Amino acid sequence: MIKLSPSKIATYKQCPFKYKCETDMQIRLAYRKDTPDLVFGNLIHGCLNDFYKRTKKEGRNFETLRKLFETKFKYNFQKHNKIFKNKENIIKYVEESKKQFKVFLKSKFSEGEPLLTEDFPKYQLSSELELGGKFDRVDLKDNKLTLIDYKTGKYKEDGQNNYEFQLNFYEYLLTKKYPEYKVDKKILFYLKENKIDEYKSSKDLNQVEEEIINYAETIKNDIELKPKRNSLCNYCDYQEICSLFRKNL
Ligand code: SF4
Repeated sequence: MIKLSPSKIATYKQCPFKYKCETDMQIRLAYRKDTPDLVFGNLIHGCLNDFYKRTKKEGRNFETLRKLFETKFKYNFQKHNKIFKNKENIIKYVEESKKQFKVFLKSKFSEGEPLLTEDFPKYQLSSELELGGKFDRVDLKDNKLTLIDYKTGKYKEDGQNNYEFQLNFYEYLLTKKYPEYKVDKKILFYLKENKIDEYKSSKDLNQVEEEIINYAETIKNDIELKPKRNSLCNYCDYQEICSLFRKNL
């Protein structure tokens, strides 16, 4: 059975060999490296999820978020210390977390009670294909659903097209899980720059389903999963086992 998510499809499109490495747990654990930005993003996401999941409404404020960040950072202190390297760098990221929490709390998205956080539904499209993925949050208001995804990195003007398919994929999943509600909006919330990108609901979810099935077929039939050089090769964790780069040594 093949298990797909928007990020797996994006990885396959970028480079089939990288997809192979990412989906093989042994290779992934051996070569995947954590970067400060990646770990920082995970910490912020974890805090914002716990902010709703584990905190009562009256306790949802800046101090709660700040403490959540501190607790999560200290919980894995050795690992975090190694990744963030030195005190100055740690202080820089702690300050950035405070900035992003303030942006979040000032926004209308800090209000309300999410229907879902983090635990996004899986959907068995066929006996051969399971769909899933990680989405930050879904709100339900007036019988309409809003999908919200937090971004902690920089807003990239030219990278926005990539998100359209990802958001359509999640909209498709949500309509399978909650057929009684319509997905009204899909939001990307850039906490670093206090920028919100809003996408309308997809006009044709049958087309989205068709697209997903096509990707699944392509991946299933790709026996070789060859490397494909691309603009992100220099940041790829699998360069040392990638034939395109080994040849050049
Ligand atoms: S280095 Fe480039 S070509 Fe090689 S696996 Fe990574 S992304 Fe693919």
